[in-house]
Amino acid sequence: MVKGKHITVAGLGVSGVPAAKVLHGLGAHVTVVNDGADERARAQAAELEALGITVRLGDGATLPEGTELIVTAPGWKPDKPLFTAAREAGVEIWGDVELAWRLRGPDAAPWLAVTGTNGKTTTVQMLASMLRAAGLRTAAVGNIGVSLLDAVLGEERYDVLAVELSSYQLHWAPSLRAHSAAVLNLAPDHLDWHGSMEAYAADKGRIYEGNRVACVYNAADKATEDLVREADVEEGCRAIGFTLGTPAPSQLGVVDGILVDRAFVEDRHQNAQELAEVSDVNPPAPHNIANALAAAALARAFGVPPTAVRDGLRAFTPDAHRIAHVADVDGVAYVNDSKATNTHAAEASLAAYDSIVWIAGGLAKGATFDELVAKSAKRLRGVVLIGADRALIRDALARHAPEVPVVDLDRTDTGAMLAAVREARRLAVTGDTVLLAPACASMDMFANYNKRGDAFTEAVRELGAGA
Ligand code: ADP
Repeated sequence: MVKGKHITVAGLGVSGVPAAKVLHGLGAHVTVVNDGADERARAQAAELEALGITVRLGDGATLPEGTELIVTAPGWKPDKPLFTAAREAGVEIWGDVELAWRLRGPDAAPWLAVTGTNGKTTTVQMLASMLRAAGLRTAAVGNIGVSLLDAVLGEERYDVLAVELSSYQLHWAPSLRAHSAAVLNLAPDHLDWHGSMEAYAADKGRIYEGNRVACVYNAADKATEDLVREADVEEGCRAIGFTLGTPAPSQLGVVDGILVDRAFVEDRHQNAQELAEVSDVNPPAPHNIANALAAAALARAFGVPPTAVRDGLRAFTPDAHRIAHVADVDGVAYVNDSKATNTHAAEASLAAYDSIVWIAGGLAKGATFDELVAKSAKRLRGVVLIGADRALIRDALARHAPEVPVVDLDRTDTGAMLAAVREARRLAVTGDTVLLAPACASMDMFANYNKRGDAFTEAVRELGAGA
């Protein structure tokens, strides 16, 4: 399929370098183009050139002569001049997911795919855990764990893959056809890349195209259900909803603290199947129960028995920085949800606790905070604001929660997080939760959300040690 073809790989980095190597190994004539030419790019280029691959650094705009196919890093925006030139020349553009999909073998494992604004990683890991509990050979792939190309081309044989897909990846994966897929939720995010909410939703909706068994949607998020309705699926493919309430037929939901399935049972109008208890979900916060239900729907669509859903949930531990309980100090719980980098995620995490001292702020990425603050106001004991765009949150608090005490920390040095945690401690009373759920990106103060979460964890430890 690619042998002898002139293929341009757009972008070095986590997807470009392995793609270039694989394509070269399959006998394609590969040219890699990259906008930047910094030290890391030069090192990666040297590595590829040593294999005989051509690399053009500092020019990601010009379409190399004779290009028959472009394989792009998912993050490259569709309006780049390189792509305009490709479209004019009738050259196809594949992303990393499309490449893996096209290169998979004839007896390749089916894909159970997950997208959504928030909760993808958690859901895919829960799903993989359920599949494993059912004795299936599987991996959680995508932005996490095994790379898609490795999963598809490597030695290891899989029965089924649990695949996390971002909106960018879906944009560039036109021929992907999953066994079943879920869209967890849809809130405005990455709109600068997609151009509009409609375009973002449409790219997410591609995950349902050609599904064979089930399109899983969030019954509380109509936009996800609309995407199912618009999708072209295989004959017999079902729409399956998940809800935190009592499930209707063809839904999974919650009844009296039990996760129940009213979709993959005989006579769904009469019967419901118990899957697990809410307390089997870690942590049992509402949004995470929704993630568990979505994972269960996909697992059940693949024929996983109820006991394996339960065992998979029990065996699952969330990744770091996702509603991680750090410690209790003087009767106050400290929870690290540094991964809450947008308002939709922060809203979910604030909804999980009754009385909160909220540590928030960072880079807002164009977000507004009125809705988040208005919805969460009644739970707030106090707020400590950090980061570049904290004034946006402060103003929203002044409008919607004027009685809540706010500490505005105007410092970005390495000690800022300890100062924030100390201020939070001062505001908290016994039984409260101090919650780091910044609703913002971290890069104004930290290298990434992991480092921000580490700083919080470290600060809580110091506080516990009497700092
Ligand atoms: P993603 O891979 O989509 O970024 P993660 O599973 O890593 O999602 O979770 C990221 C953050 O999003 C979590 O820390 C939590 O704050 C929030 N989150 C997780 N699941 C949901 C959900 N179903 N709805 C809203 N927010 C969620």
